[in-house]
Amino acid sequence: MQYPTIRQSNRGDAVKALQRLLHLKDDGIFGLLTTEALKEWQADHGLTPDGICGPKTWEKLLSTAIVTGKGPDEGIVTSQSQDDADVLLANVDLSVVRPATRRTITEIIVHCTATPDGKDFTVEDIKRWHLKRGFSDIGYHYVIYRDGCILSGRNVNTAGAHCTGHNTHSIGICYVGGMDAQNKQAADTRTEEQHKSMLALLRRLCKMYPRAKVMGHRELSPDKDGDGLVEPSEWIKDCPSFEVSTLRTELRKAGVYKA
Ligand SMILES: [Zn+2]
Repeated sequence: MQYPTIRQSNRGDAVKALQRLLHLKDDGIFGLLTTEALKEWQADHGLTPDGICGPKTWEKLLSTAIVTGKGPDEGIVTSQSQDDADVLLANVDLSVVRPATRRTITEIIVHCTATPDGKDFTVEDIKRWHLKRGFSDIGYHYVIYRDGCILSGRNVNTAGAHCTGHNTHSIGICYVGGMDAQNKQAADTRTEEQHKSMLALLRRLCKMYPRAKVMGHRELSPDKDGDGLVEPSEWIKDCPSFEVSTLRTELRKAGVYKA
């Protein structure tokens, strides 16, 4: 069986298989996020990071996949030798491949909804905004409401869509707020409940992913002047409207932050 060479703007089942193997939401549309994730994966696996899924990329991807529903021989596909790889590749049904490993998480990125102080918004609202922007789902993994409730957004095993260049290896959390009541200026509008819930969620995530760095969205803006520091003048936007270093300090005090 020949696997189709696929690239940006392609659609279909092969794109879905690729997206599942890259821990992306499998909407079957090869867009920017899929290209970005594929380039990163190729670079991590010694392949030319061209964002095109051709024979070499398929071979390497499938050598780390689990094939489900294929009878007694199902299981992890291993490619010990080129011959084995050929045999296995010839038998892999793309509709049933799954990644054998979980996502590697190196960053937990904090965001705000950039909505006015005192106004409530739901996961459904945010999902609607993100669908309008062409995303396949809500971009964040967790949302913290003004009353402190923590809601799940996108599945954490699926890459989010919340910070360009960082989505593959990160978890995105977002609190409702971040603008003053007039919706004019960025403002730290976190309620006491939101602050408590954010810390509780981060404590749990830091225990689950001890090597992950906790970062504010604006700290990950490109360092334009190349001095190694991302200064306020370089912030693309103010998200999440507060200094996330204060959270890192609190997490260190709680003994859960080592990064
Ligand atoms: Zn953000």
